[in-house]
Amino acid sequence: MAKDQKPFAVVVGCSDSRVPPELVFDVSLGDIFVERTAGEVVDAVALGSIEYAVEHLGTHLIVVLGHQRCGAVSAAVSGAKDTGDIPDLLKAILPAVAETKGQSGDPIDNAVRANARDIATRLQSTGPIIAPGVQSGEVKVVAAYYSLDTGQVELLK
Ligand SMILES: [Zn+2]
Repeated sequence: MAKDQKPFAVVVGCSDSRVPPELVFDVSLGDIFVERTAGEVVDAVALGSIEYAVEHLGTHLIVVLGHQRCGAVSAAVSGAKDTGDIPDLLKAILPAVAETKGQSGDPIDNAVRANARDIATRLQSTGPIIAPGVQSGEVKVVAAYYSLDTGQVELLK
């Protein structure tokens, strides 16, 4: 493994300290290729990392992992005004907030799920590497939700 890697999945997860994908999925070194940003937001640079894994490491499963009580999504839902580059981050989550506004249930939880789904849906049709892979059936992109309370991961439809 020191000379090569063959991760079976790419996990696009949140930077949240409570959600390290290797521990969440109980896997070890070399098993998963991880891309983490707050709110699992995928910008061009993050996309490049994901594409690298698909193209050069042969990883054909991409899991977009949202999680319960996500701070980034909570901030976007509450319309928090921030400084630095944080507003850019929150802006990327706003479509999920708008999409779930007025729905029954917990607004943050609804937005967390919508955000993970939206990112997965967008990835499926993005770029010259992932989109053709999805179309040919070689690459699969799924959205999932991690519960901090139970430790369980649920696949989102
Ligand atoms: Zn989070």
